Amino acid sequence: MIDSARLGLPDFDPGSVWLVGAGPGDPGLLSALALHALARADCVVYDALVDQRILRLARPGALLDYAGKRGGRPSPSQPDISARLIRLAQSGNRVLRLKGGDPCVFGRGGEEALALAAAGIAFRIVPGITAGIGGLAYAGIPVTHRETNSAVMFVTGHDTDGKVPGGLDWNAIARGAPVLVLYMASRNLSNIANRLLCAGRRSDEPVAIISKATTPAQSVRVSTLGEIVEAPGTIPAPAVIVIGDVVRLRIALDWFGAQHQGIP
Ligand code: SAH
Repeated sequence: MIDSARLGLPDFDPGSVWLVGAGPGDPGLLSALALHALARADCVVYDALVDQRILRLARPGALLDYAGKRGGRPSPSQPDISARLIRLAQSGNRVLRLKGGDPCVFGRGGEEALALAAAGIAFRIVPGITAGIGGLAYAGIPVTHRETNSAVMFVTGHDTDGKVPGGLDWNAIARGAPVLVLYMASRNLSNIANRLLCAGRRSDEPVAIISKATTPAQSVRVSTLGEIVEAPGTIPAPAVIVIGDVVRLRIALDWFGAQHQGIP
């Protein structure tokens, strides 16, 4: 248990909501504030990407409320989830809204916070380690490296219809940063790779596909933009994809793979 008093952590007041990032999977990547909230919450409203090992850290007796997809049925709508958070808080609960990675990185944390603010519910945002940074670290890929890139771009490869986001200017993205980190892009990967090649990225540019990052089932496939267009292959979900020369550093820096060889 963490010593909340010594760390000076704030009270989790009844009737308030904490929007907390659970990180990409490894429970060791939880923040002290996240552990503090798990130990005190009356209700934990969580998404599909939150690791089971993290849910087991919730206070015994806490209500665990799943807000993701159920048996192939679509996820509850965003207004439904926000309404549920508001209702639980108005009943006097300490409500922990637990999301994979960081709540505000492609996680709709902002939308939920806006709904809470509009309803006059006290809330706090607790950042988490996003898959596009933590997952890269566990794959031995620094997200920036002095000789390689002084900028990085985080991009979603999926819009609400499941298509490549039409509102994104892929030519500008291709020129925008030497390293691109793609979320939710597995299904559209060959299409995206093709757009990046047409916009001038090199076909021999390395690509790493990091699946189930930071868990014992983590797998990493290294390829090139050109190969991905030809054969995207199957990608275990969830996966983050990193494009750029930082991927080459993995040969020397794959500390996690070296420790987990032999784990299925
Ligand atoms: N808020 C989350 C992102 C939610 S969008 C965060 O900050 O990480 C969902 C996408 O996140 C997935 O499609 C995948 O691209 C990425 N993702 C989340 N967890 C992951 C994991 N453990 N390994 C690889 N990718 C992950």
